[in-house]
Amino acid sequence: MDNPLLDHSTLPRFAAISPEHVEPALDELLAANRRVVEQVTGAGGATWDSVVAPLEAMDHRLGRMWAPVGHLNAVVNTPELRAAYNRCLPKLSAYGTELKQNEALFAAFRRVAEGHGSLDPAQRKVLEHALRDFRLAGVALSGEEKARFKGLMEELATLQARFEENLLDATHAWKKHVLEEARLAGLPPGLVDRAREAATAENLEGWLFTLDFPSYHGVLTHAEDRELRREFYEAWVTRASDRGPHAGRWDNTPVMERILTLRHEASTLLGFANYAEYSLATKMAGSPAEVIAFLDELATPSRPAAQRELAEVVELAGRPLEAWDIPFYSERLRRDRFAISDETLRPWFPTERVLAGLFRLTETLFDIEIRQAQPPDSWHRDVGYYEIVDGEGLRGSFYVDLYARSRKRGGAWMDDCVGRARFDDEVHRPVAFLVCNFMPASGKRPPLLTHDEVVTLFHEFGHTLHHLLTRIDYPSVSGINGVAWDAVELPSQFLENFAWEPEVLPMISGHYDTGEPLPQDLLERLLESRQFQTAMQMVRQLEFAMFDFHLHSAPLPPDGQGMESILADVRSRVAVVDYPDFNRFAHGFSHIFGGGYAAGYYSYKWAEVLSADAYEAFADADRVVDPALGQRFLRHVLEVGGSVDAMDAFIAFRGRRPTPEALLRQAGILGDG
Ligand code: ZN
Repeated sequence: MDNPLLDHSTLPRFAAISPEHVEPALDELLAANRRVVEQVTGAGGATWDSVVAPLEAMDHRLGRMWAPVGHLNAVVNTPELRAAYNRCLPKLSAYGTELKQNEALFAAFRRVAEGHGSLDPAQRKVLEHALRDFRLAGVALSGEEKARFKGLMEELATLQARFEENLLDATHAWKKHVLEEARLAGLPPGLVDRAREAATAENLEGWLFTLDFPSYHGVLTHAEDRELRREFYEAWVTRASDRGPHAGRWDNTPVMERILTLRHEASTLLGFANYAEYSLATKMAGSPAEVIAFLDELATPSRPAAQRELAEVVELAGRPLEAWDIPFYSERLRRDRFAISDETLRPWFPTERVLAGLFRLTETLFDIEIRQAQPPDSWHRDVGYYEIVDGEGLRGSFYVDLYARSRKRGGAWMDDCVGRARFDDEVHRPVAFLVCNFMPASGKRPPLLTHDEVVTLFHEFGHTLHHLLTRIDYPSVSGINGVAWDAVELPSQFLENFAWEPEVLPMISGHYDTGEPLPQDLLERLLESRQFQTAMQMVRQLEFAMFDFHLHSAPLPPDGQGMESILADVRSRVAVVDYPDFNRFAHGFSHIFGGGYAAGYYSYKWAEVLSADAYEAFADADRVVDPALGQRFLRHVLEVGGSVDAMDAFIAFRGRRPTPEALLRQAGILGDG
């Protein structure tokens, strides 16, 4: 069978990939990889070329096969593809655990490490990570414990996928059909048009709203109809839970409890006190106490500032507010104070213009060129494809898929399609997927972004550049690979800052209809609005981070109330909003239950401290788009990937260790001093 997933001579042929290709391709590669492992361990080798290089090459092949599968499952999800994907997860997980628990392979890596004299620093980092990961995967466990550990990893992979499915199904199941036009008061025209089109498509009168994030956010922020806001809020915060309109139908509670129990067991098998300790073994932060102290250090000045911000909203509304009122009155306050809203600015940020400006900015900063190209294949007509070149030639390429549509997972992310690698003399250029869920074009209007969405795009493009501009040829430490989790958001959050610069805003804006530049007074008000409610956002993120970290710091009590009581305790210490009883935020907390941020959500704040501090170097320079500083950042941070410790990379760029003051200053929580 000609299986397109096994053809790596070109970029993925997405249209040719069908669900029945997935499992056979994986089976074939896993079998081939197992033969490589047998050869490597059987030969008793002790050199890089005889042990590590063949392993890196086979991982790279597997990555190339699996990347388009994971990607298609996320952006054009069908029941058949989802089923094929799910059948593969336990196989992949078992394979990964088996490799990392292979004692003969562990011994071979140790032999290479002993004779490491001739290796370069990046190669030594590959070995250091590999030996650490062998130990974390239980290579030193006895037979029975090792088998148990393997079973735990397989079950966890399946449970995490089920968490995501429940959430996706619950999200798609809810729709709001509105017949009275009066109920739409305040809503942005784009959102109303789209709801109208959705109703027409189903032969319905009126307007049909879905629960994708732009719709939810648009209603909460703009709907004057309080009951409509309450309905959307309740539907959103009870997804996949025991409460709300679909109570119990896709309830994630047992999945979450089982995930936490299994994670705790797995970490104690390896000799850690809890999962939080296990999580930190691969991170920049040194200990749970350091993380707790770090979060408290941010919370202490932020909470009183957040309480003052909330009081302003309550004062404007003139009455006590429920959780579903706060975004609406906050938006009103923002409009009163700055006379701008998300929607006022949208016409000045057509997607095409923003992308072009973002590309020009990074071309100048990093001395590269970004040009549109034709990929061999795509998965949707809206997808764009670009190449990055510099004086030496092609550095990498990326796909851009920006708009929300059905059967596409919510949120925004960058994922790797191909990692940079060199085997013998053959160089594989890195390739990335940049995915967002912005509101598509409607009627005569081209797709337009809110400024928040502009910032999201900058963020994901920061990840994209980190993945594509690496110069490291060993795939396990090239690009974003091998970078400590709590440092991996440094380039993305760093790049966000430029979306707020007077020097940059004219490059990325221009009225979609008239082409006029963003008026100076709007620009000034936008900049002033940057510090609006920053403390409320800070405590919300700290709430998520503390909840996650405490949840993974001890086993759940057996009373079935553990998660909710930890959440209530964290909220009592850091939150400023009163949440309704039915709020089941945790049931949709994909980062920690579906994805890899367990006991790691604090990483966002950790990396924000790094990125704000790094960015201050640019902000303090004569001009913010400073190619000389850009080159320093490129050389010390973007190009090195995971081949240098995150702290060493930061110090190489900044000349000292990071401090939290830059972030607190940027948020307006600390004065300029
Ligand atoms: Zn990110």
